[in-house]
Amino acid sequence: MPKNTGWTTTSVPTDLAERIESFVNSKEGKKLGYTSKTGFIADALREKLDELTGESKKQQTKLEDKMNEMNNEIITIQKMLIEKLENNITKKTKSFKSSHFQVISKENDHFILKDNIKNKIADVAIQKGELFCQLCEENNCVHVGFLFSLPDVYEKLEKKLTKTV
Ligand SMILES: [Zn+2]
Repeated sequence: MPKNTGWTTTSVPTDLAERIESFVNSKEGKKLGYTSKTGFIADALREKLDELTGESKKQQTKLEDKMNEMNNEIITIQKMLIEKLENNITKKTKSFKSSHFQVISKENDHFILKDNIKNKIADVAIQKGELFCQLCEENNCVHVGFLFSLPDVYEKLEKKLTKTV
């Protein structure tokens, strides 16, 4: 067992070893503080490893960027889906609005409407040849308007009014 000196031995190609040797002994090498091949090799290897490790870090960053990009795309798609859902809900709400009123009963010239917004019952009757809402005490309220929008009511009313006239 070799004793632990903090160093290990590795083979280096002869031509490379010669180049290192001459560099270390050159003015340039001495200026940089190299005193032996070993020091230079250790330094060069450290630098190379740092470079490679840094490179792998860069690649990791690239991967993270790519993932963020994909996440953003997913978020965009999610937003689109949510918008679409919201649009559908709005459409449904709109169609619900038209069913805010329910005809509970229609008898001759008397209509009972359920007002789902106000949660009240509107009693609309034909008085003096026109529809009159007992709830609003007027002949031009939303309830009267709603009754006019119903084809069968309108038809019935038209007949009734024609008879009255
Ligand atoms: Zn009314």
